[in-house]
Amino acid sequence: MKIGFFGGSFNPPHNGHIQSAKKALDCLCLDLLLLTPAWSPPHKVMPPGSPEPAQRSEMCRIAADNLTGIEVCELEIEHKIRYTVDTVNLLQQIYRPDELWLCLGGDMFLTLQDWAEADKLMKICRIAVFSRTDREINILPEKAAELSRRFGACIRLMENPVIPVSSTWLREKIPSGAGAEHIPPGVWEYIQKEKLYEKFCSL
Ligand code: ATP
Repeated sequence: MKIGFFGGSFNPPHNGHIQSAKKALDCLCLDLLLLTPAWSPPHKVMPPGSPEPAQRSEMCRIAADNLTGIEVCELEIEHKIRYTVDTVNLLQQIYRPDELWLCLGGDMFLTLQDWAEADKLMKICRIAVFSRTDREINILPEKAAELSRRFGACIRLMENPVIPVSSTWLREKIPSGAGAEHIPPGVWEYIQKEKLYEKFCSL
């Protein structure tokens, strides 16, 4: 069995996340891709006024609805896990996969060597990387070569179209009613219904 782990704050989930998840599922021939909302992400400060973990998880569930092979994994929220290495250890125990892929964007990949127990993480997982900007397209191969040399990491740079959207940008736009075109429609409806990001203080 081939499993993909795609973690993040998903605050909110957007089309960049979903297109990347679909691409990973197809290109890596995964049986299952786990969208995994963070309980409290170690690499980012959750801005004040952010939705609760359960609401971010619900948005992910709505975004993944009807997408065969993509499911929401609540392990990090349920167990208050902070570090990816602990989550992938649990996934190993639960699924005993033949291949476990850590899927992440170029911004996160460029910091991977500083993550908790990065060497162990790169032993447990293969790494799939999505470009987020055209600028990264030149930097990512260098970083991949460095991590392969240093940690023996197995890294696949995905040939994905760059989707220039971020949750930060959306959090700034949503209060004025903009940004819907970058968010799955069901997630947009949920944001409106729950009045998320209305009184938002951006960081
Ligand atoms: P924020 O703007 O709040 O920092 P974000 O848009 O980067 O959020 P996260 O939930 O932090 O979203 O990202 C989860 C994962 O998805 C990370 O690995 C990130 O690099 C990746 N990712 C986010 N946006 C994109 C995108 N547009 N294209 C490809 N990967 C993306």
